[in-house]
Amino acid sequence: MQLDISLNGTAVVLLGEADATRQAARRYRRAGARLAHFDSPAAFRSAVALPARPGLVAVVGKASSGRGADDGEWAPVLEHYRNAGVPIVRESSAGPRGHVTLVGGGPGSRGLLTLDAIEALRDADVVLFDRLAPWRELEQLTTAQLIDVGKLPGHHKVPQEEINRLLVEHAKGGDGGRGCNVVRLKGGDPFVFGRGGEEAAACAEAGVPVRIVSGISSSIAVPAAAGIPVTHRNVSHCFTVVSGHAPLSADEHEHLAGLGRSGGTIVVLMGVANLPHLAAGLRRAGLPLETPLAVVERGHQAGQRTTVTELGRAESETSACGNPAVIVIGEVVRLMDTVSGSSDDRELRDLAASLLDA
Ligand code: SAH
Repeated sequence: MQLDISLNGTAVVLLGEADATRQAARRYRRAGARLAHFDSPAAFRSAVALPARPGLVAVVGKASSGRGADDGEWAPVLEHYRNAGVPIVRESSAGPRGHVTLVGGGPGSRGLLTLDAIEALRDADVVLFDRLAPWRELEQLTTAQLIDVGKLPGHHKVPQEEINRLLVEHAKGGDGGRGCNVVRLKGGDPFVFGRGGEEAAACAEAGVPVRIVSGISSSIAVPAAAGIPVTHRNVSHCFTVVSGHAPLSADEHEHLAGLGRSGGTIVVLMGVANLPHLAAGLRRAGLPLETPLAVVERGHQAGQRTTVTELGRAESETSACGNPAVIVIGEVVRLMDTVSGSSDDRELRDLAASLLDA
């Protein structure tokens, strides 16, 4: 948890080993606190200028002792402040140096970050992110150094090899050679078309431990945001997620025919530019022209928009659609009007409800 209160000018005593307290120290400084940090009871006892009555005491236990398990060596100091009526808060230990955590950030709204994602961000020293992840909130979620690998100053994407290299470099040699706790924040789930597997492999190869924090994939959550369930009893009993970025496979026709035969929902990521090609291919593969098709742009984000059409008219009716968007092809699209919870019109419904209440 970051600090939402302003501690401007408040004296805060921070207790704990330097390494374990590095992120907590940054949080308190950012909140404006005057920080007095002691890394051992001995340092505390020999301090010359001790804040007699600080506004707050924050203690970080040993990483191994768990969160707030016991006060250990700090017990007498905490007892002293407790008796003086000073509030005491327990802070979690900083993340381990020399590690990389691949974090799935969900489709872009803060609410769809997992608790593990929020903790990983809080404990990080460096965060590498791109524009599909919920990057606008990062300043509130972490004090880590933020590196945008979605764009370089010249507005070009950082090549994948360079991202892999940066992850390893910061983990091993960041913070003056001591190594950093690095988070790679990715949109959706790291292992769904996110090249997360490649990044994890590059870290493992360089001897850097990697942890995966799964995220909510746009392949399910973006259709849901438009009120489209990817499966539904008696309508579709399976769904296939494909990339529309490149031709599906060497034998594309066979692949598309297989998708059609499955009778399930087809979810296409990165498919807007290639939609005419894909739609034509699916028609050639025998999918009926009247198969419903929806393009959901900017799901769970401001400006979310859903365009519904049919496979036979997809090209002309989706020409104004842009990235990022998830394309849904199949009968489940027809459920849009019957399934509640569509956030496309949630605002309108909320407005209507508030007017009725008034
Ligand atoms: N790992 C991601 C997908 C990365 S590929 C995940 O699991 O969601 C990038 C594609 O994801 C985009 O081209 C788009 O098709 C889709 N996407 C991601 N976020 C989206 C959003 N908020 N709205 C619509 N599409 C999104």
